[in-house]
Amino acid sequence: MIARVSLEIALRKEFDYSIPAALTAQVDVGSRVQVPFGARKILGVVTAIAEESGHANLKPILKVIGAQTLVTPKVLQLARWIGEYYCCAPETALKSVLPEAVRKEDASWRERLLVRVLLLSGEFPKLPKRQQDVWNIVEERREILLSELVALAATTTATVRKLEDRGLVSITIEISERDPYANETILASQPLIVNPAQAVALEKIKSAKGGTFLLHGVTGSGKTEIYLQAIAHALEQGKGAIVLVPEIALTPQTVERFKARFSSGKLQTLVAVLHSHLSAGERHDEWHKIRQGRARIVIGARSAIFAPVEPLGLIIVDEEHESTYKQEETPRYHARDVAVMRGQMEGAVVVLGSATPSLESFYNCKQGKFTLLDLPERVDNQKMPHVRVVDMRQTARDGKGPPIFSPQLKEAITQRLERKEQTILFLNRRGYSTSLQCPKCGYVCECPNCSITLTYHRPEQKLSCHICGHSERVPNVCPNEKCRNPAIRFAGTGTQKVEDILGKLFPHARVKRMDADVMKRKEDYRNVLGEFRNGKIDILIGTQMIAKGLHFPNVTLVGIIYADMALHQPDFRAGERTFQLLTQVAGRAGRGDVEGEVFVQAFTPFHPAIQFARRHDFVGFYEQELEFRGQLKYPPFSRVALLTLKGRSEEKVKFSADHLKRELEKKLKQPFTGGASVPASLFENMSAGSPGVSPHQKTKPPLRDLIIAGPSPAPLLRAENYYRYQIMLRTRAMSRLSQSLAKMLETLTLPDDVTMAVDVDPVNLS
Ligand code: ADP
Ligand code: ZN
Repeated sequence: MIARVSLEIALRKEFDYSIPAALTAQVDVGSRVQVPFGARKILGVVTAIAEESGHANLKPILKVIGAQTLVTPKVLQLARWIGEYYCCAPETALKSVLPEAVRKEDASWRERLLVRVLLLSGEFPKLPKRQQDVWNIVEERREILLSELVALAATTTATVRKLEDRGLVSITIEISERDPYANETILASQPLIVNPAQAVALEKIKSAKGGTFLLHGVTGSGKTEIYLQAIAHALEQGKGAIVLVPEIALTPQTVERFKARFSSGKLQTLVAVLHSHLSAGERHDEWHKIRQGRARIVIGARSAIFAPVEPLGLIIVDEEHESTYKQEETPRYHARDVAVMRGQMEGAVVVLGSATPSLESFYNCKQGKFTLLDLPERVDNQKMPHVRVVDMRQTARDGKGPPIFSPQLKEAITQRLERKEQTILFLNRRGYSTSLQCPKCGYVCECPNCSITLTYHRPEQKLSCHICGHSERVPNVCPNEKCRNPAIRFAGTGTQKVEDILGKLFPHARVKRMDADVMKRKEDYRNVLGEFRNGKIDILIGTQMIAKGLHFPNVTLVGIIYADMALHQPDFRAGERTFQLLTQVAGRAGRGDVEGEVFVQAFTPFHPAIQFARRHDFVGFYEQELEFRGQLKYPPFSRVALLTLKGRSEEKVKFSADHLKRELEKKLKQPFTGGASVPASLFENMSAGSPGVSPHQKTKPPLRDLIIAGPSPAPLLRAENYYRYQIMLRTRAMSRLSQSLAKMLETLTLPDDVTMAVDVDPVNLS
């Protein structure tokens, strides 16, 4: 018997190894193995078992790592699809489906050594400096993993052992598993009696044998309750569930709700949590709880879609429109789309939920590929907030200089302060002023490494770049040698300025700001929200950080300072994003007994994204947006692959981009040979049922609908000293395009200092 192995080093190839008799029982598809590779020993994953190989003199597998196969064959199939569809090397795709904490050879339950402070009696000895440094950390933490301690104190195990010899600490083997939620008490909760709209949706989900649903329901319409009961149904069938949420560290309540429902009773199971804030050890343990079948439910961010739940009955993607589901490094997969594909491969039901679904998902419903489920009202029958759009051009004409607060918004804030109700103000831009410009010569302070203006941060008196982090002193005269005008001027508004002006307008109001500049640690976030909940803050100002999910009954006013900001970005999704953002932010108002009010300040108040959001008219917006996308052949009417070339020399990048364009014209517009080993695509033939494997290599006609646009400078031409040029490809047949691209990349040569990234279904076009 031989095993085909994908190695951890990126070679875009798999290698055959013989299986020694002693290991036959342990080697299976998905096993982690160590194999010889040249003079080295390398780790890999078995991707197939075969009777024989086309190669002679195979080397044997050296050892099998871990008792259980780590990657289930189904997840392996998913990884292969990701490699091909997102146009990346198979071993890169494979790496992404297994957390690092699980992949490492030495990762295990038991190898963790815990250092604990021992209770002291008698006089504390005088320690050498290095031991004292270590002691200080142990004393503060009471107990700490040896590995963490060694890293923190920049010391060696031997030094820690010396403290053990002195009887100051104990070092013991820790067997118990790490539970990131160990300190929380979970109260059991019972299923609620569902009202009619929920009942209809739930019935459809429960009776489905597979397929994807789009659950469109405003916040508070009872989507989570449907998820919980749908999961209960899956458990009853003996199956497990995966729940994806966009930002789990910020939504501990969600995790608690799931744990509470399944903490007792006949459907009792562990709920595993996977997200980026876990320690490697915690992640290892959570993952193995799933693999061992003790946790049948997994909640997590993006990468939880690869959790080894078996058999899998249900996948839920909450807030499916969120851009955080897209991974912005290779493999650049979109977790929602991977979820749909995984569901299809494993016959699991997929539920995508959102108050503002993506245009893609909405379109898939229209096309009959997804089933739309509507929850049009809030469970408690609360009304939607009243949205008023303020024409800021009017305000600008009346006052001097660009306004920040319209008289209407000021008046509304005053009322809320009098009535002791709370206000949220939203502006998606941090800093004080967004640029520093000389009115005389026109000089604008830009980042030396990136093609954007520097933002003025007042507390630190600095100009800083929001791309690369560069920062510099604020000049007191125009930096232009020939000008030196002392009257250089700040322009544009960020959250710091809003806070500042608010303080002048309402000196007695208690104001807090929430943005990446003040929220450095995750406790900061919890603390401020706690104060806000307890009524210790009157007005909360924030960036997109406060746009989602917050539920504060006493917030009756939401002000959106500058609603059209996102509209002016060079991105075909600008309108959609604005609509979603306005709807989400507006949803923060009126969550209690008093009806909410929202002021949307805009310079283009009649833009459809703003007007439809004002009327809470989701379908209206989507219909007209679809028309616009259709005319320009943008998604969802096509799929996009964005090729970005970057390098330090603009000339070389531009030259390479032109060369690439010619190659693309030549290679992609010809008849195409190739055979996919994966399902053709997510959406092209989704209704065809099983993820078919295309049978034979054969010549296919060229991609007739292919549009090649560019090369053109990226919207952000220069970032961190790299120049960037883009070519945008659009076609309906993306999986075929990916295959042709992969083939082409094998032979494409670029100058050494120019690199290329392929982004299939990009979310970020800058
Ligand atoms: P969403 O996920 O759409 O925001 P939730 O499921 O969180 O909605 O429901 C909002 C609130 O309404 C929650 O407090 C929830 O407990 C409650 N709720 C949901 N469904 C019901 C129901 N059928 N009966 C009573 N209360 C419900
Ligand atoms: Zn920069």
